[in-house]
Amino acid sequence: RGFIKGNPKESDMELKVGKINLKVPQGSSSSGAVLVKNLYLSCDPYMRGRMRDFHGSYIPPFLPGSVIEGFGVSKVVDSDNANFKAGDIVAGITGWEEYSLIQKTEQLRKIQSDDIPLSYHVGLLGMPGFTAYAGFYEVCSPKKGEYVFISAASGAVGQLVGQLAKLHGCYVVGSAGSSQKVDLLKNRFGFDEAFNYKEESDLDAVLKRCFPQGIDIYFDNVGGEMLDAVLLNMRVHGRIAVCGMVSQQSISSSEGLRNAFMLIPRRIKMQGFLQSDYLHLFPRFLEHTIDNYKKGKIVYIEDMNEGLENAPAAFVGLFSGKNVGKQVVRVAQD
Ligand code: NDP
Repeated sequence: RGFIKGNPKESDMELKVGKINLKVPQGSSSSGAVLVKNLYLSCDPYMRGRMRDFHGSYIPPFLPGSVIEGFGVSKVVDSDNANFKAGDIVAGITGWEEYSLIQKTEQLRKIQSDDIPLSYHVGLLGMPGFTAYAGFYEVCSPKKGEYVFISAASGAVGQLVGQLAKLHGCYVVGSAGSSQKVDLLKNRFGFDEAFNYKEESDLDAVLKRCFPQGIDIYFDNVGGEMLDAVLLNMRVHGRIAVCGMVSQQSISSSEGLRNAFMLIPRRIKMQGFLQSDYLHLFPRFLEHTIDNYKKGKIVYIEDMNEGLENAPAAFVGLFSGKNVGKQVVRVAQD
């Protein structure tokens, strides 16, 4: 509806009903476009950043009153593009609506149907999965036997980072915001240890308990207090991959890190990254992930909301940790 302050609310979004012609309109403005029926929509924390009137980011703000756009899996209904035909299943940027006219088809990826759930193409095999892959292998420079810590570890990105780290022979600990999530980390994703940060009054103490030798790699999804406590527990030459700061998204000025000085004596390398800088690795990521998934070495948990009308609630839930696993909205059956 308009730019927001603080965490998003359902009332910041509005459901509009209208009619659509199920054909790509004739005319030069839609030349090369495809008309798709949306099947799955992805709720991602970065979308919160597009609801602010801030143009200094890597992605422009949404236009208030316009259709929200995000990653999705869709079926082509009509096409004015030689690369796509009716019936094709595609993944890429689409609208939060039942049907979308997509003009920027260069961002669409055709999906071969196989025994992998289609919705995984916005999670395990989509942007979040790729973020885990690029962040872990390219930014963290992991070595076998290293001590790895992941925050928001049961989420879309975190659950894969942990499993990749285990496959790499690392010792892996995750934090998450409920006992159900902690149970998933330990018993589904194979983490060595996990804790509910909401029940810990002393984050430094719990990190010292989990990592008596210290942390080599911190995959940071949350920033804030957790990052500050981790800084006290990093080993010399440790690496921090700053993937996201979901705890800071709604804070206009950073609360500041009290322990940032630790970067120096411990010679810690701290690097922010964007998955989009590594897209040349996407084919390799798909091959690696599909292979491990099919061998049963990787599992993936989704939180599926039904119906477009429930998309705002699903999105808002990301910022209170309501989602258990990758948050997806099913708009229509495949
Ligand atoms: P998740 O599926 O992990 O969902 C967000 C989770 O964040 C919630 O479930 C909740 O988990 C946790 N959370 C919410 N609010 C807070 C808070 N105030 N303090 C601590 N934790 C909180 O999201 P994704 O896996 O999709 O994304 C994880 C991070 O990665 C985000 O920061 C996102 O912006 C970033 N990202 C970065 C990319 C890049 O290219 N750099 C690309 C994709 C994502 P819990 O219950 O455990 O608290």
